[in-house]
Amino acid sequence: MSAAATGNLWGQALEVLRSRIDEESFATFFEEIRSREFADGQLELIVPSLMFRNWLISNYQEAIDAAVTEVAHREVNIHFALASGEEGESTPVPAPPRGNNGAGSLAINLQPNRINPNYTFDRFVVGESNRFAHAAAQAVADPSSRVYNPLFLYGPVGLGKTHLLHAIGHAMRGYGSHLNVLYVTAETFMNAFIEGIQKKDVAYFRDCFRSVDLLMVDDVQFFAGAERTQTEFFHTFNHLFGAGKKIAISSDHPPKELPELEERLRSRFEQGLIVDVQPPDLETRVAILRRKARQLNIDFSPEIEIYIAECIKTNVRRLEGALLKISAHHAVSGEPMTLASVRALLGPFFTGGEPVKIGVDKIQGVVCKFFDITQEELVGSNRARKFSGPRQIACHLCRELTDLSYPEIARQFGGRDHTSILHACRKVSEEIEADLSKRNLVKYLVKLVKEGPGALPPH
Ligand code: ADP
Ligand code: MG
Repeated sequence: MSAAATGNLWGQALEVLRSRIDEESFATFFEEIRSREFADGQLELIVPSLMFRNWLISNYQEAIDAAVTEVAHREVNIHFALASGEEGESTPVPAPPRGNNGAGSLAINLQPNRINPNYTFDRFVVGESNRFAHAAAQAVADPSSRVYNPLFLYGPVGLGKTHLLHAIGHAMRGYGSHLNVLYVTAETFMNAFIEGIQKKDVAYFRDCFRSVDLLMVDDVQFFAGAERTQTEFFHTFNHLFGAGKKIAISSDHPPKELPELEERLRSRFEQGLIVDVQPPDLETRVAILRRKARQLNIDFSPEIEIYIAECIKTNVRRLEGALLKISAHHAVSGEPMTLASVRALLGPFFTGGEPVKIGVDKIQGVVCKFFDITQEELVGSNRARKFSGPRQIACHLCRELTDLSYPEIARQFGGRDHTSILHACRKVSEEIEADLSKRNLVKYLVKLVKEGPGALPPH
């Protein structure tokens, strides 16, 4: 096979592809590809890495074939090669699962169904780690009490903050249907505000939020760096507070540790009660497990209960996940539930009793390898798309797969400002919503990060 300048087949095919693929994906994947054409009709596409090639094949093989055939007016044999000189075989890898395209609506949803019916005080298991938070939440829910305003709950993920906020909402509704209760995530608040601005109807937005008896805002760390939203929330807060209405807030950190929070908002948060929620102790974990098992009609032996509760110490959501996994497995297999079968199921996910921690290093390594860029380029300041696209994806993965805050992630990305991490994460989240191939790419990278190179197709 000899190289020959038989025209710019790939260049023409690219133009066709450009018109069919969204701009972002096109820039991420197609601008990186080099080509060589051979006199015998073969087209060689040179890609930066094996993973990149696999990705391309599983997501765009058909599109590429179609575009090339269209511009060549004949069958073309397309062959992939790696830029490093390694031959890449064009064995397709199974395409990552495809999700549906249900993009979320940004509209404020003021319907009561926003409150999860399962998240009630009844279903919340109280232990030393959350006793105070639980009691404070109950006090806030009592309309005759005026204490703890605002209530500020904080703590790591998966420990019941959202559950408690919803429970306040339920309980307060239980006191009377005339009470107007609104639960939103900070993200919803912000999106609703932005929508209000876009539709030139901030007045409606304000009415919605200022006419409630209880406003609950979940995960306010999300407000970091969003100055206008913070200002708006500050005024909402003052309005409600001044009218004697209640406010309950959750966050991953206490107000004084929230970066980029306006000082005046911080001091508002601090004027109420600040309570932390800590990981439950062993007895509480067993009690939670028992409660959830009963809801699922599962009967665990005490030794299995203790085993699971010993395995998962820091996150109740993971505890629930393990429970579901075990119950689903035994329901399907019909096997009796034994300590050995439970251990075998949970085993691969735990080392030394805790889930394998995913570190930023691991994520950065996978992303660098996939896009064939160096660690310095990934965390550096070069804004060329070749680096900024992978960088944004890596930031998003760090946010999704680790428990790190934006500032902590920022530190590991060259010490940039944490708001740039926030923006990167938001951007990728939006792209994932809007673009199936981006969503698949991110899923694929998550799999690589979680399962290591074993998740890669053989090469
Ligand atoms: P957070 O908002 O703190 O990240 P969530 O409120 O979403 O955590 O809780 C995660 C899951 O764990 C939810 O399904 C919740 O019902 C459950 N959970 C957490 N703490 C408890 C508890 N003390 N009792 C019962 N369920 C709990
Ligand atoms: Mg939550």
